Amino acid sequence: MDAVSTKDTTTEARLTASPDLTGVATSVGGTLLVRAPDTGEVVGEVPDLDAAGVAALVARARTAQPGWAGLGVDGRAEVIERFRRLLWRRRGEVLHSMQAESGKLYEDALRDLAMLLDVAHYWTRVAGPLLADEPLRTRGLMGFGRRSVRTFEPHGVFGMIGPWNLPVVLSIGDALPALMAGNTVVCKPSEVTPLATLLAADLFVAAGGPPDVLLVATGGGRTGEALVDQVDAVHFTGSVATGRAVAARAGQRLIPCSLELGGKDPAIVLADADLKRAARGVVSYGLLVGGQACIAVERVYVQRDVHERFVELVVEQVRSLRLGPAGGPGVVDVAGMIHPPQVDIVEAHVRDAVERGARVLTGGRRGSVEASYEPTVLTDVDHTMRCMREETFGPVIPIMAVRDVDEAVRLANDSEYGLAASVWTGDPARGRAIARRLQVGTVTVNDAVMHAALPELPMGGWKASGLGGRGGPDAMRWACRQRVVQVLRLAGHPDLYWLPYRPRSTRNLERLFGLLYGR
Ligand code: NAD
Repeated sequence: MDAVSTKDTTTEARLTASPDLTGVATSVGGTLLVRAPDTGEVVGEVPDLDAAGVAALVARARTAQPGWAGLGVDGRAEVIERFRRLLWRRRGEVLHSMQAESGKLYEDALRDLAMLLDVAHYWTRVAGPLLADEPLRTRGLMGFGRRSVRTFEPHGVFGMIGPWNLPVVLSIGDALPALMAGNTVVCKPSEVTPLATLLAADLFVAAGGPPDVLLVATGGGRTGEALVDQVDAVHFTGSVATGRAVAARAGQRLIPCSLELGGKDPAIVLADADLKRAARGVVSYGLLVGGQACIAVERVYVQRDVHERFVELVVEQVRSLRLGPAGGPGVVDVAGMIHPPQVDIVEAHVRDAVERGARVLTGGRRGSVEASYEPTVLTDVDHTMRCMREETFGPVIPIMAVRDVDEAVRLANDSEYGLAASVWTGDPARGRAIARRLQVGTVTVNDAVMHAALPELPMGGWKASGLGGRGGPDAMRWACRQRVVQVLRLAGHPDLYWLPYRPRSTRNLERLFGLLYGR
């Protein structure tokens, strides 16, 4: 199998039509057929790269890396700024590609693109200062006369493995800090949604990006494994199960590996909250990308006194939403699932909940659109149910009544996941205090989800939701190797610690330690 060239993969060439096939990506003779989830139509064909194909791509990226690093931060920023502007100018094609392969709403695709543009803007502005040599102050006696500085160097070739729900920002977007740090990058988008990532990589070259700096390895899990085997560092976004496999493989090679994994984000609604706003927020963020977002609200705990009213408001909101095939701006509110087999998981979670005593207040069945599930509200739920413990990743909002804040916090923390959480209250100070008790990487008060759209904020999960993360200055550090350079300024004088040892000098040194550390 030949390596994928970023130059010969224009969307037009890849988009083909064949309406008689089912709705999941399939591999046929080394080629992946990418299908629209709602119609089953083949919307693209891409290589299903084997290990040799991946190795060839990584070799190209490795050859290109010194030249890319040699452009310097300003040179790299200039390329990425041009890339950002071209992405916007050609947004029609990018949005079309994203919608064709995922069936997602125009608004969801637009948000994915906007996040990518914002991420590009952020890294081109902040990378310079973050990558500059950093003087390090030392205070101990052993640092006397020594000057230390930390330098940041690229790893070499960075691998980015992404999921199907936000394919562009979670592959190309995560590649940007690594690129700005002077790495070259090979992205491995999900086999379900590789087309928009390929198009974005094409646009990088069209914007004047040097060849082989940003490459795309298409294929499934086997391709991802081969990538981990070849690159110098890997960033993975996807499920907990795959994240564990990626970490184990990276561990074998002792390469840096950061993981952004699944979530089961709780929303805690207190009696003093603006209930109308909280209901609207929970519905908007529970059904974000049809619930197929790692930071979507996946379970809700509401103080008993306001539970009934809150549930009424949520149900009213959800019933007013329009489920239908995705189209242009504002056409519908919820579309079908991006990955059709996900409907089975959603259905199984709702069935399990109902069998254990939950009530379906609206939805609770497959939708009329192909590969869709009706937006669903469940009550009388508890933690014996899968919908409260496992990631549903679909349009389901289970709401549980709780006695008080302590019970809400205990249940919110009773999860293997720890990605994000939200607290809805009329008292922001109280919200902040509750935030500090939640075992998650991000807490929002009177809001949810939007924190992930802000590249200035670090985002990372606790517990099984991940290791490392994206966003904020830490992500740039993560994209680099660090080197400490220490220079002895008093060259010419013998050092206190050098051989040979003498009783007097050792005793003097001991006295000095006593004066410094023994008081
Ligand atoms: P997935 O784990 O099935 O696949 C993710 C990627 O890993 C795909 O590109 C896949 O081809 C690849 N892959 C599969 N097996 C591999 C292996 N053995 N080695 C290397 N790569 C392999 O996840 P998905 O179903 O595509 O995405 C949904 C999941 O992603 C959900 O759990 C969701 O919560 C999570 N997610 C997390 C975040 C976050 O930032 N924390 C963001 C979006 C999605």
